[in-house]
Amino acid sequence: MSAAIKKEKVSRKAAPKEPEQATAEPAVVSDDDEADDALSYDRIELLQDVGINASDIAKLKEDGFATVGQLFQVSMKRLLQVKGVSEAKAEKLIQAGRKIIGEKSGFITASSLLIKNKQKYFITTGSKQFDMLLGGGIETMSVTEVHGEFRTGKTQLCHTLCVTAQLPRSQGGGAGKVAMVDTEGSFRPQRVSEIAKTRYDLDPKEVLDNIIVARAHSHDAQMDMVTQLGVLFADPERGPFRLLIIDSITALFRTDFSGRGELSERQQRLNVHLQRLVKHAEEFNIAVLVVNQVMADPGANAMFGPVLKPVGGHVISHACHTRILMKKGRGDNRICKVIDSPCMPEAECTIQLTAGGISDVDE
Ligand code: ATP
Ligand code: MG
Repeated sequence: MSAAIKKEKVSRKAAPKEPEQATAEPAVVSDDDEADDALSYDRIELLQDVGINASDIAKLKEDGFATVGQLFQVSMKRLLQVKGVSEAKAEKLIQAGRKIIGEKSGFITASSLLIKNKQKYFITTGSKQFDMLLGGGIETMSVTEVHGEFRTGKTQLCHTLCVTAQLPRSQGGGAGKVAMVDTEGSFRPQRVSEIAKTRYDLDPKEVLDNIIVARAHSHDAQMDMVTQLGVLFADPERGPFRLLIIDSITALFRTDFSGRGELSERQQRLNVHLQRLVKHAEEFNIAVLVVNQVMADPGANAMFGPVLKPVGGHVISHACHTRILMKKGRGDNRICKVIDSPCMPEAECTIQLTAGGISDVDE
């Protein structure tokens, strides 16, 4: 873990206690917080050691290439769009990159993959029941989508995770920082403060200092922000980041491509955006949470009333590893249903929206 996060590590408001003893929250992950000291990626600056000059590296960084691995995640066509990169230079970059990542660029054994997967974190949602449905919480190296009607608690889940992502691993946290792209103006630092203080007894200022927020007003800005975040995530002095939230993923795409005949371009752009998010999640061991809206399904049987479906169609279904539906329940209760997960069966539970964020109903 970098010196920066150590300095800013969240401390208790009152008399300092050992983090492990500080609350009775679930210990979903019990490994040491420092366990993943080794970076999961190679910074783009390393290319200098294998003959690429600093100005070319600067141009790559300006275009959002922050790691050597990212040279291999894009097509040649995309690499040629970087300022000053000719075909010959692109080839040189790829050769240089191979020298650094070597065997990491191809096949690995499934057992190596299993070891890699053990570096995953599960960040608690604030509800033990909900965590159980998710196999431990919101998973890093993975993209989770949450959709539902208005006031179902999607943004409240984001606010809660902004705090829990910072808890020590022994308390089901991610021991890291949070990045948030707010496309609806619904992020409320006051709510995060309230959750930090009332529920987890943390210093709200320190918690807020570990969250970076950007307000996006167009889909291009949203996409650019995510690209630029790659550069930030790759900077060990600024992190580690463990959670990236986009609230919401589809709203600006729907606004910017609302005309007739624009659907396919919208889906294409959305796909590029989601693929970038998947790569960030995997490369930087980050949990990506995307909030999605729902719309009436014109294909549904009208006999049974209007049926809602998440926006974004197959593009979202393919990119997101886990999907959650949130529905209204009685009073402050909400029903959370895991409808698609690579490892967990479909199941639902009831949670409660409280001043301390998402919690179990009987708390
Ligand atoms: P939208 O689609 O409109 O963005 P959403 O699913 O994001 O909706 P949220 O903003 O997460 O909805 O949830 C709103 C609900 O959270 C409201 O029912 C509100 O009563 C509840 N809520 C907000 N603050 C608190 C609090 N401090 N204590 C308890 N409940 C709260
Ligand atoms: Mg919301």
